Amino acid sequence: DLLVVGSANADLVIGVERRPGAGETVLGSDLAVHPGGKGANQAVAAARLGADTALLARVGDDVHGRMLLHSLRAAGVDTVGVLVGGAPTGVALITVDPSGDNSIVVSPGANSRLAPEDIRAAGSLFHASRVVSAQLEIPLETVVEVVRCMAPESRLVLNPSPPRPLPREVLDACDPLIVNEHEARVVLGDACVSDLPEDWARLLLAKGPRSVVVTLGARGALVASAAGVFRVASVEVEAVDTTGAGDAFTAALAWRLGTGADLPEAASYAARVGAAAVTKRGAQESYPTAGEVEAL
Ligand code: ADP
Repeated sequence: DLLVVGSANADLVIGVERRPGAGETVLGSDLAVHPGGKGANQAVAAARLGADTALLARVGDDVHGRMLLHSLRAAGVDTVGVLVGGAPTGVALITVDPSGDNSIVVSPGANSRLAPEDIRAAGSLFHASRVVSAQLEIPLETVVEVVRCMAPESRLVLNPSPPRPLPREVLDACDPLIVNEHEARVVLGDACVSDLPEDWARLLLAKGPRSVVVTLGARGALVASAAGVFRVASVEVEAVDTTGAGDAFTAALAWRLGTGADLPEAASYAARVGAAAVTKRGAQESYPTAGEVEAL
């Protein structure tokens, strides 16, 4: 079983001709409200593939929180670990201009109140999970507590997004650490002495994780472990919208590892899931079923 620990946000999207300057008002399109946040995205992506998935997260006691709980349950995610209250649901205010560029303001809200004691109180969810998947849209101290509360035989998959330097205790627990190119550079910091993804994979591995995955968008991914660095082929598709592709990739990889696949196998399955996700608009709306992945 897969446990995702992370964020849940309402994405509020308005199309605009141009962004307002200071003190200015512009009119935009009708509002679109989408369920989002990396934790909720990953949980929905895994459940849609058929994974037995639970989410440990926090939302507000408000309309956005209820919308998120509804979309999670509709996808088949176990929501007993979704805590309610403490602050408004996290929100991303997104404006999109005619060229497709986004400007985003995030209010973390309830995500920032998912506390280490919430993790300690969720013991039974950790005992039931072979794989735990986390990201960084919740406090880092909460992720540290996840590492401490995991069952000894279970495995942590971490996508450090938004990226920041990570403490050794967290790095050592990752199996794998999953980064895109930007995240690789930030996590490496001063140690980022190369422009080659193969080198980033090796340098990241030297920081403590048992394995590393570097995702490279349309170019697929790299997996690195003590066995060496291997390339994972991408699947050629017509990319429509890459939003949430990384979350789908990570969720699929975490699920396959939990079913006993080795890292290269899990990553090549995840690359197909990521490719399927970029062929449709949106994040959660774009996630494939296992049948759709087979058909790709
Ligand atoms: P992120 O969204 O975190 O930046 P990437 O863009 O690297 O992550 O995408 C994650 C994975 O999704 C990639 O490793 C790849 O397998 C798949 N993917 C992303 N974009 C494409 C694309 N244009 N064509 C095919 N696969 C893609």
